[in-house]
Amino acid sequence: MSMDTTRSAALAARASRVIPGGVNSPVRAYGSVGGTPRFLVSGSGAYVTDVDGNEYVDLVASWGPALLGHAHPAVVDAVQQAAGRGLGFGASVPQEAELAEEIIARMPDIERLRLVSTGTEATMTAIRLARGATNRPLIVKFAGHYHGHSDGLLAEAGSGLATLAMPGSAGVTAETAGQTLVLPYNDLAALEAAFAQHGERIAAVITESAAANMGVVPPMPGFTGALIELAHRNGALVIVDEVLTGFRASRSGYWGIEKEQVPAGVAPDLFTFGKVVGGGLPLAALGGRAEIMDLLAPLGPVYQAGTLSGNPLAVAAGLTTLRHADDDTYRALARAADAVASEVSAALTASGVPFHLQRAGTLFSVVFGEFAEAPRDYATVQRQNVAQHRAFFHAMLEAGVNLPPSAFEAWFVTAAHDDAALERIAAALPGAARAAAEV
Ligand code: PLP
Repeated sequence: MSMDTTRSAALAARASRVIPGGVNSPVRAYGSVGGTPRFLVSGSGAYVTDVDGNEYVDLVASWGPALLGHAHPAVVDAVQQAAGRGLGFGASVPQEAELAEEIIARMPDIERLRLVSTGTEATMTAIRLARGATNRPLIVKFAGHYHGHSDGLLAEAGSGLATLAMPGSAGVTAETAGQTLVLPYNDLAALEAAFAQHGERIAAVITESAAANMGVVPPMPGFTGALIELAHRNGALVIVDEVLTGFRASRSGYWGIEKEQVPAGVAPDLFTFGKVVGGGLPLAALGGRAEIMDLLAPLGPVYQAGTLSGNPLAVAAGLTTLRHADDDTYRALARAADAVASEVSAALTASGVPFHLQRAGTLFSVVFGEFAEAPRDYATVQRQNVAQHRAFFHAMLEAGVNLPPSAFEAWFVTAAHDDAALERIAAALPGAARAAAEV
């Protein structure tokens, strides 16, 4: 018997009458997988519960922020205490500097940090800052990378645009789009050619630390380091976007892993953060060397501001999350990621479904389909078998496992994915693999 989703279906119909597509962020509409989008009412640890009372082991984790699991008692307590003192003042609060210090302690290449409210704001501001610092107009981004929904960064973007197979967005002027050069990921020759042609006009290269919005596609060994050296030789800055990977792929993001392979002294100029850094509330950040960051107002000529920037509830959630994200947390995340990754591989192999399991630290995802080698760019992952993903997704959902409703998103474990949660996932996998095999 299939799961009762009567209330979710009724809420979806009701929301569709007053909210475009019934959702406030496109992928939530289940457009690419079909079926009834679940309306969630609560979450605890590794589990979420929908409005019909169905419980799922969650592998979405609020798209990343729930590193410690849902409603972690210490985070909830910190937010409640902060709320009791006032929801926000539009003035500085003591914990903002503490959060900046905690981030800088994990990311030694950062000297100054500014708090904003969303990852979109963080990357948008980083780009303005790069243009302000270099006095150059052009930005280089990679196809399939997603950096939020500001106009200049939507071309060939991952995440929801990949899910909906949209090459970009209407409403972005040709002039704005023309200031972004989109290149294939992991292709150093393409980057060299772009610098040879436009070198003196490129303000910055922005790259996801490890791409995770077209599914997970890690950088090839040496790619990010070579990218930084090439950009710097040409007087351009490098923005490493850790909104998704930050404090999740490892204690110090994917850059913490990548750094080991990069020559000493080679480092990005700016980093962006979101998701985990806000512990589930709207908070994001950008950081970098003092000489660049101090170009921001009120010290310098690059303007940025926010009514809710440094909001005390969001700061309390982020600070408490990071302080609890210790070595045990990262061990638990790695253990959960290893377990799910190996069980999904075993189940798909047993059912004869061709796939690649892609990994970046504790982040991973599955690309369905036959490929000569592990996919390394957007053009390749776009050829995956989304129909198999759809069948697999629905079988997992029906068995009580909430996967991202898109073939182009990473899977997110939490430190709360204990043996019981992992066993439920393992029990669901063989049936889902068989469903994918039947497509
Ligand atoms: N950058 C990356 C790498 C992301 O994954 C995202 C969101 O998924 C963003 C930026 C945008 O963040 P937000 O959704 O908070 O605006």
